[in-house]
Amino acid sequence: PPAHYVVGLIGEGIGASLSPPLHEAEAAALGLSYEYRILDLIELGLPAPDVARLLAKAQHDGFAAMNITHPCKQLVVEIVDELDPDAARLGAVNLVVFDNGRLVGHNTDWIGYRDSLVAGLPGASFDRVVQVGCGGAGAATAYALLAHGAGRLALFDVEQGRAEELAARMRSLFPSHPVETVPAGGLTDAIPRASGVVHATPLGMLHHPGVAFDVALLQPGAWVSDVVYRPLETELVRAAARRGHPVLDGGRMAVGQAYASLHIITGRMPDRDRMEAHFRAL
Ligand code: NAD
Repeated sequence: PPAHYVVGLIGEGIGASLSPPLHEAEAAALGLSYEYRILDLIELGLPAPDVARLLAKAQHDGFAAMNITHPCKQLVVEIVDELDPDAARLGAVNLVVFDNGRLVGHNTDWIGYRDSLVAGLPGASFDRVVQVGCGGAGAATAYALLAHGAGRLALFDVEQGRAEELAARMRSLFPSHPVETVPAGGLTDAIPRASGVVHATPLGMLHHPGVAFDVALLQPGAWVSDVVYRPLETELVRAAARRGHPVLDGGRMAVGQAYASLHIITGRMPDRDRMEAHFRAL
């Protein structure tokens, strides 16, 4: 293993990312010398396709790995030399490991979400899941839900085409699972029948206030999972918890993604609870 790890994150508008303190504190606790740098395409004045040049330079400069975020996760699929099978199936890479001159692409978003379901919603039913939002985060959550054994999955997006596209992709990857789409106006029918609802739109973030569906539609005991993690307590999480629904905030997915990345990069076993506690204190 390297005496000193240099890892980075490439994306747009990532100056306030919590990844550096999250990775560095856990690596330090594991006794590793580890540095996490931010390469913000906007600050660097570079267009997204320049991720290829940044990766080549990072490899040349001796980086151990690079996390990848919006808007480069799909682009990087075409750039790497090798793809982890799940990243290939998902069509998105959020971690590139520099392995003896080869760029190997992984996806730890879906792993983070799957682990968050296991840890954060113990005993929950996944018979009928409705997912609202079918963008980048939604692709990872849908994949994780189906890999985790969800029964029926119904996908909704204000841009109907995105729901259709994700549904088609998931049907081809998980042919034995019924994956359907919810038409415009159809959430009022779908949500009351769901054992749980996943929210994967930006609504609830500081600059995107609001909720994407009415929690009063939920059946008693139905769980709610929000991918938004800034703030951790979104309007949706607060309203659902107030009504007694089991809730999973977006923090566990964010920590789970970092946990899985750190594990792949270093081969060491991070302490998930310690990372979780640290994240919540940031
Ligand atoms: P995105 O733009 O790729 O996708 C968002 C999707 O939501 C789009 O398809 C859009 O059409 C849809 N949408 C918007 N408003 C809607 C509404 N009212 N009803 C239904 N659909 C609607 O964005 P993204 O990258 O998927 O990010 C979404 C959120 O997930 C952000 O808040 C991001 O910070 C968060 N996120 C969290 C994690 C985590 O680890 N917890 C990981 C990735 C992203």
